[in-house]
Amino acid sequence: MENNREIPYKIYLEEHEMPRQWYNVRADMKKKPAPLLNPQTMQPITAEELEGVFCKELVKQELDENTAYIDIPEEILSFYKMYRPSPLVRAYCLEKKLGTPAKIYYKFEGNNTSGSHKLNSAIAQAYYAKQQGLKGVTTETGAGQWGTALSMACAYLDLDCQVYMVKVSYEQKPFRREVMRTYGASVTPSPSEKTEVGRRIREEFPGTNGSLGCAISEAVEAATTQEDYRYVLGSVLSQVLLHQSVIGLEAKAAMDKYGIKPDVIIGCAGGGSNLGGLISPFMGEKLRGEADYRFIAVEPASCPSLTRGVYAYDYCDTGKVCPLQKMYTLGSGFMPSASHAGGLRYHGMSSTLSELYDQGLMEAVSVEQTSVFSAAQEFARVEGILPAPESSHAIKVAIDEAIRCKETGEEKTILFGLTGTGYFDMYAYQRFNDGEMGDYIPTDEEIAAAVAKLPKI
Ligand SMILES: *Cc1c(COP(=O)(O)O)cnc(C)c1O
Repeated sequence: MENNREIPYKIYLEEHEMPRQWYNVRADMKKKPAPLLNPQTMQPITAEELEGVFCKELVKQELDENTAYIDIPEEILSFYKMYRPSPLVRAYCLEKKLGTPAKIYYKFEGNNTSGSHKLNSAIAQAYYAKQQGLKGVTTETGAGQWGTALSMACAYLDLDCQVYMVKVSYEQKPFRREVMRTYGASVTPSPSEKTEVGRRIREEFPGTNGSLGCAISEAVEAATTQEDYRYVLGSVLSQVLLHQSVIGLEAKAAMDKYGIKPDVIIGCAGGGSNLGGLISPFMGEKLRGEADYRFIAVEPASCPSLTRGVYAYDYCDTGKVCPLQKMYTLGSGFMPSASHAGGLRYHGMSSTLSELYDQGLMEAVSVEQTSVFSAAQEFARVEGILPAPESSHAIKVAIDEAIRCKETGEEKTILFGLTGTGYFDMYAYQRFNDGEMGDYIPTDEEIAAAVAKLPKI
């Protein structure tokens, strides 16, 4: 039996061991995700059409399903070196507390001011916008992590950054907003009066809390109506999963150093970028028949796209201006309840993860908000880190797996993604601590009503 203590609490890579290329898991998929469709023609969208909305190089990455490894430009690598490699932590204290024979590891992405993994893609997207000679970028943000990450990246590269922030988060998280403004971004609560689509949504859903889907529509409109601006997106798209593969590549390199092989890999799934990035190199091995792993996507019971949605073409945004994507979706008209894991309140899921899930290569579970916060609290008390509500979805399921190992005596190795810290989520923690947090689970009728409005393709 392996001597646990030989493995340090934190496994860091040396700078020279950091990945120099991103990994594109689509290259190893025999059946690829379905192509994006043009919302006007319903035909597969061309690079030219996408380039009106997105940066040229990012369009190339989005449409590239065959190149397995893509070089990380030097300038992005040096930015990564400011806050990466991120630690892979052996959760000895949590294992002890649970009394489990399982070995638990987490890859911690919260060690930067944005407080999450989103900076990994923000710097890449801002870099390509700068390379193209653009003035600025527009985007949406839900909980605020993506907007913060993008404002940091834009400040570094001297690009203008316009953020449409989901209204409920704008109001619940004033300090997030101020971090973004400190980095020079302009922040607008969404839906707003600034865009045509925002005005239309406000009319249709008076008093709405907003949603990621609405904010995306506004940001896209803002990008396409200003010269030398493009839209950037912090999740869902294949290019974002590509950039986030740095998480999985580092985790795998760190584990390989000590001959550790995970049995189960767990991550929270909003649009799927951190999970996609974390599992990519492991999924690559599984797809090539070199190794086997269990992968588990964890989503909130309030917004269960994989576990209760349908696999179909849908709009990525409420305003129906973005390309359509084939994905597990609750319908672009689905308005998730005002749960506290803002980053997971998205109606759809990455097309790559959707296809992997559909092929039975990945599992999914949904968990309720109060159980997630109980897990977060238990984790914070023994491991020290105050986790983001989104990340705590993965913690909850990792703990469940570890408890199952205790019952069966299995010494499984569990790896989960700890995507960020929760310092801007103290309102949510306050509700939980005061016993005022509830669990909202949509009814079958609500989901059926939203799904009934899917485009017929
Ligand atoms: C945005 C966010 C998520 C969810 O986004 P994915 O694209 O599904 O990874 C998870 N955790 C944190 C901390 C986030 O900020």
